[in-house]
Amino acid sequence: MKGFAYRDGILHAEEVPLPELAARHGTPCYVYSRAALASRYAEFGRALAGRDALLCYAVKANSNLAILNLFARAGAGFDIVSGGELARVLAAGGDPSQVVFSGVGKTAGEMRQALDAGIFCFNVESAAELERLNGIAGQAGKRAPIALRVNPDVDPRTHPYISTGLRSNKFGVAYGEALALYRQAATLPHIEVTGIACHIGSQLLDPAPAAEAAGKVLALVGQLAAAGIALRHIDLGGGIGIRYRDEAPPAIADYLAPILAQLAGRGEKLLFEPGRALVGNAGLLLTRVEYLKHGEEKNFAIVDAAMNDLMRPALYDAWHDILPVQPGAAAKAEYEVVGPVCESGDFLGHARTLAVAPGDLLAVMSAGAYGMAMSSNYNSRPRAAEVLVDGDRAFVVREREGIAQLFAGEHVLN
Ligand SMILES: *Cc1c(COP(=O)(O)O)cnc(C)c1O
Repeated sequence: MKGFAYRDGILHAEEVPLPELAARHGTPCYVYSRAALASRYAEFGRALAGRDALLCYAVKANSNLAILNLFARAGAGFDIVSGGELARVLAAGGDPSQVVFSGVGKTAGEMRQALDAGIFCFNVESAAELERLNGIAGQAGKRAPIALRVNPDVDPRTHPYISTGLRSNKFGVAYGEALALYRQAATLPHIEVTGIACHIGSQLLDPAPAAEAAGKVLALVGQLAAAGIALRHIDLGGGIGIRYRDEAPPAIADYLAPILAQLAGRGEKLLFEPGRALVGNAGLLLTRVEYLKHGEEKNFAIVDAAMNDLMRPALYDAWHDILPVQPGAAAKAEYEVVGPVCESGDFLGHARTLAVAPGDLLAVMSAGAYGMAMSSNYNSRPRAAEVLVDGDRAFVVREREGIAQLFAGEHVLN
C-alpha cells in the first residue's frame, strides 16, 4: 500500500518506523502519508487532464485541517455537508468559490453562512429546501447558485447503509420529479440554476452503476435544455471504492472512462466528489496490544484502540487488514481483535491469525477515510492523536485529547 511498507522487518510510514511514532506520540494514533494522499490526488488529476473539471474532496471522509490544507494547495474544491465543514475548509485555506454544499438537512443558519462565504453551488435535495434557500438568499440580497441532486435510482451494488441512489432512501430528488422542480427553481427570484448533481453511494467497485447514473443525468440535462434551462456544470458525486481486503477496485482512470466517454464534446464543467478514494488507503490506525486473553472458545487480543476510534467494523461489519508492526517470534493464534469499550460490538477484526504478545504494536490499515472523522468520546475515551508523515518527518496534525476536553462545556446543577 503506497506510503506504508516493511523495511528491515518493521512497518514504516514513508521513512518513519511506526514504533518511533508510537513512542513519541502514544497510541492509539492515526498515521497518514502525505505521499499517498498526493499520489491519489494526482491520479484523479491525470484521469481528468484536459477537461474543465473540478475535484471537490468530500470533507466528511477526513476533515483534519492539515489534510484539507494539502488538498486546497493542490487546487481541490470541497464537498461539504455542514456549516462546521465549511468553517474547516475556510480555516484550512480552501477556496469557497470551489465548494459544493450537499446534504438533506441544511439549516437556515448554514445557508446564510454558505451564501456569505460565496460557495460555488448548493446541491439541493428537496422542494422544501429550495423554497427555504430562496427565502434566505432574498433576505441576504443574493441569488443562490443551485444544482438539484437527482436520484437516478440505480443500484450501486454496495453495502445498504452506504447506498444513496436508490428510490427508497432519503437522498436527492426523485428522477421523475426533477424536471418539474427545475422549472419551479427557474422561476424563483433568489435562485440561480447552475447545475445538476448526483451521488449514488459509496465504496463502489464496479464502474457500471456510476456510468448508468451519468447516462440518466445526461438525459435529464437534455430535457432541461429543451425546456430552456441550460446548465453550466454536472456533478457526478463520489463513491469510488478502495481495496480494504481483496477487493479489486479499478484504477481511477478506468472507473471514470465510461463516464467521460459519455461526456465527450460537451461544454459543462464536470465535478466529482471523491472522499474515500483520496484518503482511505493513505491512513492507518496504530494501536498497542494491552492484553491477550485466552477464552474457552476464542482468543482475544485486547488493544488500546476501540470502536470509538474506528467505528467502521462495528457499524458496517467492515474489514480492515490488521498487520503486526514488527512481526516477532510469538506463537501464531487466531484472535478477536477487540478494544476496551463495554460493547460486544467493539471489535476491530474477527478471527485474525496473528503472532502477537502484549505490548506489540498493530496497524489497522485503510483507516484514512471515515476513521477519525467518525470517532467519538464513547466510554469517555479521549480522541486519538493524528500524525502526518512526510518523508522522514512526522507532524502532529491533531493532538491527543486530554481529560479536560472530555467534559469541557458540561455543567452540574447548583
Ligand atoms: C459521502 C459523500 C461523498 C463521498 O463519498 P466517498 O464514498 O467517500 O467517495 C460525496 N458526495 C456526497 C454527496 C456524499 O454524501
